[in-house]
Amino acid sequence: MAYDNNNVFAKILRGEIPCARVAENDHALAFNDIHPQAPVHILVIPKGRYISSDDFYSSAPAEEIAGFSALIARVARDAGVADGGYRLIANHGADGGQEVPHFHVHVMGGRPLGPMLSRGPAA
Ligand code: AMP
Repeated sequence: MAYDNNNVFAKILRGEIPCARVAENDHALAFNDIHPQAPVHILVIPKGRYISSDDFYSSAPAEEIAGFSALIARVARDAGVADGGYRLIANHGADGGQEVPHFHVHVMGGRPLGPMLSRGPAA
């Protein structure tokens, strides 16, 4: 599958559509999710063209992975959820429910988030 240059996060990175920017470093950008599902719901995306977690962690250079990871930790701390706890979610592909085909991690917290998944069969 090829990277889609017209996905919404690619447009945010090019400045073609706005975002509620939270933080940024050389390798990643963080902004508020447009439909928050928790008091803190921040998306962290790499600045490079990576479709998913599979793509990113198998092909990104180590310094990009380090910069991306550092920004996740920073926004969680700055949002005040590091002590109380938070959840990181990275949806990959159809079964994972990924909607936007540019790799992103959801940083969610600010209230008890409940079970990891809605109840359903394990198999
Ligand atoms: P996922 O299902 O993991 O691909 O999540 C995509 C997320 O992107 C959803 O939580 C959407 O609410 C969010 N989203 C889509 N468009 C925008 C946008 N323009 N700005 C901020 N968040 C967005």
